[in-house]
Amino acid sequence: MDRRGTKRKMENVEVAEPRNKLPSPAPSMSTDPALYSGPFPFYRRPSELGCFSLDAQRQYHGDAQALRYYSPPPTNGQGPNFDLRDGYPDRYQPRDEEIREGLDHLLHWLLDHRGQLEGGPGWLAGAIVTWRGHLTKLLTTPYERQEGWQLAASRFQGTLYLSEVETPAARAQRLARPPLLRELMYMGYKFEQYMCADKPGSSPDPSGEVNTNVAFCSVLRSRLGSHPLLFSGEVDCTDPQAPSTQPPTCYVELKTSKEMHSPGQWRSFYRHKLLKWWAQSFLLGVPKVVAGFRNPEGFICSLKTFPTMEMFEYVRNDRDGWNPSVCMNFCAAFLSFAQNTVVQDDPRLVHLFSWEPGSPVTVSKHRDAPYAFLPTWPLTECTG
Ligand code: GDP
Ligand code: MG
Repeated sequence: MDRRGTKRKMENVEVAEPRNKLPSPAPSMSTDPALYSGPFPFYRRPSELGCFSLDAQRQYHGDAQALRYYSPPPTNGQGPNFDLRDGYPDRYQPRDEEIREGLDHLLHWLLDHRGQLEGGPGWLAGAIVTWRGHLTKLLTTPYERQEGWQLAASRFQGTLYLSEVETPAARAQRLARPPLLRELMYMGYKFEQYMCADKPGSSPDPSGEVNTNVAFCSVLRSRLGSHPLLFSGEVDCTDPQAPSTQPPTCYVELKTSKEMHSPGQWRSFYRHKLLKWWAQSFLLGVPKVVAGFRNPEGFICSLKTFPTMEMFEYVRNDRDGWNPSVCMNFCAAFLSFAQNTVVQDDPRLVHLFSWEPGSPVTVSKHRDAPYAFLPTWPLTECTG
C-alpha cells in the first residue's frame, strides 16, 4: 500500500520532527486555498460496485428497493406549482438524528461483499473507506467559513476508515434548530417526492408521507491521486430516460433553493451553493443536479438543470469563486496526511482530525469510547 503523499502535497504539511527521528504524526495541516492551486489531480471515473437500501424503519436491505425514478412534470408552457409545505408536519416521519450510525450501513455492505471486491487481492487493504458526504466536506474545506468538522480515523487490516463526528457546535445547533429551519429541511424532501416515482414510467404521488429514514445508497470505487477509495452516497433518483442507463451516470440529484431576482443573488448562489452541489455530485459521478426554485410562500415555480461538469463555468472568471483543483488537491493532501498519521493498525485506536474555519487541521489520539467506531466483531471474522 502506498501511504506516501506526493511531494507537493507534503509541502503543505508542517512536519515538526527532526529528520533523524522515526516518522510520527505531523501536527497540523493548512487549508489555505493558495496552497492547493495546482493542476487538477487524477480522479478515477467512479464505478458502482453495488448498492443498498434503508427502509422506513431504517433497516438495511442489500438491494435497490428504495431507488426512485426521476419523473419531472410535463413542460407544457406553465412552470410547476409544487407546494413544499403540504403535509408538514402531519405527514412527516423524520429520521432520529440522535442515532449515531457512523459507517455501520456501509460496513454491512462491505461485510457482505468483501469476498467479491474487484481490484485484485489486497485492493481493500490499500483503500480508504468512508461516506461520500465526508469527502464532500473535505472538498469544500478550503472555501468554508462557517462550519468546522471532525473526522475520526482508524486503520484495520490495512484499510483506513474515516467517520465523521458531530462537533459540539453542530450538536448544539441541531438541538436548537429553529422551527423555520426544520420546515425548510422537510421542504427539500417534499420536492423529491414531487419529482420522483416509485416505479419507472409511473407518476409521483405527493399524497403519501415523507419518511427520511428511507434511503438508496450507491457504493462506488474511485481513486484520488494515489488513494484508492471505496465510498457510499445517498442517491435521490435514477433517470429512466438518461442517455446511459449505467450507474452512476443515470443518477440525478435534486435540490431546492430560494428564487433569485438580482444578479448579486445569482453570484452568491454560484459562489456558495453551487460549490456544495458540485462537490457532492462530482465525487459520485452524478451528471446533473435538477434545482427547484421556491418562492417566499414555499412553492416551486421553476426548475433548472445544472450539469455537474458545467458548474465551474459560473465562477471560472470570478475572483471570489471556487476552483475544483483546489478542492481536489486539498482532499488528496488531507488523505495523504491521514494515511501518514494513522500508522498503527488497531480498530480501537482513533485519530481525530479537527478543523475550524480560519485554523489548520489538527489531530488528537484516542482509544475506545466515545470515538472508536469500528465494530471489531463482524470484520474480524475470516476477512482473509
Ligand atoms: P450527503 O452527501 O451529505 O447526503 O451524505 P451521503 O450521501 O454520504 O450519505 C451517507 C449516509 O448518511 C446515508 O445513509 C444518509 O442517509 C445519511 N445522511 C445523509 N445526510 C445526513 C444527515 O444530515 N444526518 C444524518 N444523521 N444522516 C445523514
Ligand atoms: Mg438531494
